[in-house]
Amino acid sequence: MDNMDEQLDFDDVMIIPKNSNVESRRDVIITREYKFKWTDKVIEGNPAIAANMATTGTFEMARELQKHQMFCALHKHYTAEELIQFLEQNKKEFGTNDYIFIGTGLRSADFENLKQVMKTGLCNNICLDAPNGYIQGFVQHLNRLRTLFPKAVIMAGNIVTPDKTVELINNGADIVKVGIGSSAVCRTRTQTGVGRPQLSAVMDCVSAAKRYGGMICSDGGIQKPADYVKAIGANADFVMMGGYLAGYSEAGGELITRFVRTGFVDANGKDIIEERKYKLFYGMASSFAQKQHYDGLPYYRASEGTVFEVPFKGNVSSAIQNLEGGLRSAMTYTGARTLKKFPELVDFYKVKTQLNRMFGYNEKE
Ligand code: 5GP
Repeated sequence: MDNMDEQLDFDDVMIIPKNSNVESRRDVIITREYKFKWTDKVIEGNPAIAANMATTGTFEMARELQKHQMFCALHKHYTAEELIQFLEQNKKEFGTNDYIFIGTGLRSADFENLKQVMKTGLCNNICLDAPNGYIQGFVQHLNRLRTLFPKAVIMAGNIVTPDKTVELINNGADIVKVGIGSSAVCRTRTQTGVGRPQLSAVMDCVSAAKRYGGMICSDGGIQKPADYVKAIGANADFVMMGGYLAGYSEAGGELITRFVRTGFVDANGKDIIEERKYKLFYGMASSFAQKQHYDGLPYYRASEGTVFEVPFKGNVSSAIQNLEGGLRSAMTYTGARTLKKFPELVDFYKVKTQLNRMFGYNEKE
C-alpha cells in the first residue's frame, strides 16, 4: 500500500517559541527518569546515546558521556573479556553501569559474547541492532533475549513504522530503535530506495510505542544540536548519534594526518602547506567495516555504508556541551523547566528554509 502523506526531516521544521517564565538556562533540568516496560529498573539520564558503531560506541566515549548522565551503546566488536574488564572498572569509577548498553547483533558469535557478559550481572542493558529489523529472524532473536534475560533493559531495531514498533515491544523491547537510512555514512537509500525521513518516522512510531508502554530511540540524522533538540521535542526518549560524535579523541577510527595546500603563498612565493588531522568514520555496513571486522563483503551483499575522513575536533566534551547548551536554550524558549515537560510544550512550524547562508555559514559547526 502506498503512503503518499508528506514525510518530514529535522530540517523541515522549527520549534515555535512560547511564553516562558524560565529566566535562565541554568534553571532547567536536562535529565529525566526512565522507567521501562519489561523491568522495574529506573534510570535518571539525558536522552543522548552514542551509536553502537565501531567508531563511536567505545569505552572512552562511554566514560565521557556518563559524566553527563548520557548513554553509550558499546559496539559488538569488543571481546567478552574486554567488556567485562571495562564494566568492572567502570562500576568502581562511576558506581553504576546503567549508562552502558551492550551492543549485539544476529550472529551466533555476538550471542555467545553477550551471554558471557550478562552472566556477570555487571550490566543490565542490551542494544540489539540489525540494519533491517523487519526480517523475521530479528523478532525471534529479540524474543529469545527477552526470555533469557527477563529483567534486562532491551533496546531493539532498526525499523521506521508503527506496526513494527508494536511488534517489537510485544516481543520484549523496552525501547525501539527507529531510523533507516538517515546517517551520512549510510548508503541504504541510494542502494535500495528504502528509508523514511527521520522526524516523521519518530513521530509516527512514538504514538504507537506510548500506547503499548514502550519507548523510542531516534537513531541517525543528527547533524547539529538543533536536530537532537527537535528529536526530543518530537517525543523521542533517546537520541542516538554516530556522525555527530565522530572526529573526537574518544571516537575510535584511525587518526590521519594530511598536508593540505592552502592556496596561499608565503613572502618567498612558496606554497603554504597546512597540517590537518582527520579521524576515520565508517558505516557498519560498508565494505571497509566488513574488511576491518570480518572477512570482507560476501558476493550477495552490496555495500550499504561508506567511509569519511572527519576533521579531528579534540575532546568530545565540546560536542556534549553544545548538545546540553542547545537543549537548555530551547527549553527556555518554550517555557519548559524540566526535560519531562519539554516535549509537551514543543510544537513545530513546517518550513522551507532553515538558515541564512549569505556568508556561506556552515550549519554543521
Ligand atoms: P548518524 O548519527 O551517523 O547519522 O547515524 C548513526 C546510525 O546510522 C547508526 O546508529 C546506525 O543505525 C546507522 N548506520 C551505521 N552504519 C551504517 C551503515 O553502514 N549503513 C547504514 N545504512 N546505516 C548505518
